[in-house]
Amino acid sequence: MFATIKYYLKSFLLLELLKGMSVTGRYFFSKKITVQYPEEKTPISPRFRGLHALRRYPNGEERCIGCKLCEAVCPALAITIESEERDDGTRRTTKYEIDLFKCIYCGFCEEACPVDAVVETNIFEYHFENRGENIMTKEKLLEFGDTYESQLAADRSADAPYR
Ligand code: SF4
Ligand code: SF4
Repeated sequence: MFATIKYYLKSFLLLELLKGMSVTGRYFFSKKITVQYPEEKTPISPRFRGLHALRRYPNGEERCIGCKLCEAVCPALAITIESEERDDGTRRTTKYEIDLFKCIYCGFCEEACPVDAVVETNIFEYHFENRGENIMTKEKLLEFGDTYESQLAADRSADAPYR
């Protein structure tokens, strides 16, 4: 009986509606947190896993030694590597490709690499317009590495946050 009266009273006085309107009113006058993307951007963690890159040593030599650990560990089978021995006895890749349609951005390749060659940058704004652009070739990966080297080095330094 009491519950029925309470129910009708609540309905009659529109208490539920007023409760909802109070929430709307509270947020209407509070500080707005909507980010006007892409003009405004939120901070990105140094551990963010975006587009891949291949790094070089300061003398310009490729870090990658063609050990294929990244290829072996990749759960999505997204990495394809071919390598050969150079005249000086060192091993380097002749083909290094990552299929971004297969990649799940797990970061295992980066973790497995013994020489910090393959890394994931904080680039997340990219798109493809033509068939085949999803394949990141060695040339493209090295170009990204060269372009973003200072950021990549800073994110992997000992005093970078969250390392
Ligand atoms: S991030 Fe993960 S899925 Fe993508 S290439 Fe590396 S290991 Fe493979
Ligand atoms: S990127 Fe690293 S793990 Fe992959 S083949 Fe090169 S050296 Fe080995």
